[in-house]
Amino acid sequence: MQNKTEENLLVVENLTMEFASPRRFLEKQKPSVRAVNDISFTVKEGETFGLVGESGCGKTTLGKCIIRLLKPANGKIFFNADGEMKDLLTLDHEDSFKFRKKLQIVFQDPYAALNPQHTIMEAFDEPMRIHGIGGGDKEKRKELIAMSLERVNLQPDYMYRYPHEFSGGQRQRICVAKALVLEPKLIVCDEPVSALDVSIQAQLLNLMRKLQKELGLTFIFIAHDLSVVHYMSDRIGVMYLGNMVELAEADALYSHTMHPYTEALLSAIPVPVYQGKHDRIILEGDVPSPMYPPSGCPFHPRCSRCMAVCKQSKPRLEEKANGHFVACHLFDEE
Ligand code: SF4
Repeated sequence: MQNKTEENLLVVENLTMEFASPRRFLEKQKPSVRAVNDISFTVKEGETFGLVGESGCGKTTLGKCIIRLLKPANGKIFFNADGEMKDLLTLDHEDSFKFRKKLQIVFQDPYAALNPQHTIMEAFDEPMRIHGIGGGDKEKRKELIAMSLERVNLQPDYMYRYPHEFSGGQRQRICVAKALVLEPKLIVCDEPVSALDVSIQAQLLNLMRKLQKELGLTFIFIAHDLSVVHYMSDRIGVMYLGNMVELAEADALYSHTMHPYTEALLSAIPVPVYQGKHDRIILEGDVPSPMYPPSGCPFHPRCSRCMAVCKQSKPRLEEKANGHFVACHLFDEE
């Protein structure tokens, strides 16, 4: 699947992220938690790549590794810098600094993402100064902040206000504007609308799609709401217990679902009454602890189609149709 061609902005190879388990005094050492397990995928320039899965599946950890808020235990993250693929994990300090502004994140909680003691201008100005945006000219930086606020349909003079003076939707638009002012190529959107009312969610999603077209942005869109991810994404990766279990074009994932876990997730999407009933697949049991993952297929304790082989051998993510990858023994060739 890894293809370091020019059309790819990002190529993630065998990425693994582990966290040490907390240990109390005199307690036995516990195994580490593998939050992201040997994940590989690519993101094309200008596309939106969706990541879905239940809480704790590792999608946010994966997003944080990509923008290097977390240092992965293993793997490679290639980023296309003007036609040349560079591994973000092996850059020297100077290159690493240059790349940092090209990769931005919009967090789920706009309340926590802005310092309540800083005006919007102060919040924008600091990273701009650090990255030399506006060439050291304060008036130029102000102009760029005003432009960025206007892009997200906010008035330029809002830059003199404090975060508490805005609604949740406005704050999230401010966070998008703050990411945009650094002129990024890739934005990781980590559940950007899940803290907002439904009507506000639609406005923000439409705004993000408009900005993507106008500015040629690439998004990694993380969410647990499959209808939101479908609306936003060109391709979607489904994660379960730190593993990528299915990856396909958004429409193919919904119309030709392969993995039993994806089937269960899709069956949980509410449908309007006039579209008739559909059978919901209720998954048995809880998600296993990533500290003690099951043998074989990580989904086998909850899978209604589990076979003997599933308990012993972990299925690999393989391409089973054009651009449609799945990790499931149901699709093993004889
Ligand atoms: Fe279910 Fe087996 Fe497929 Fe895992 S490999 S999803 S247990 S059928």
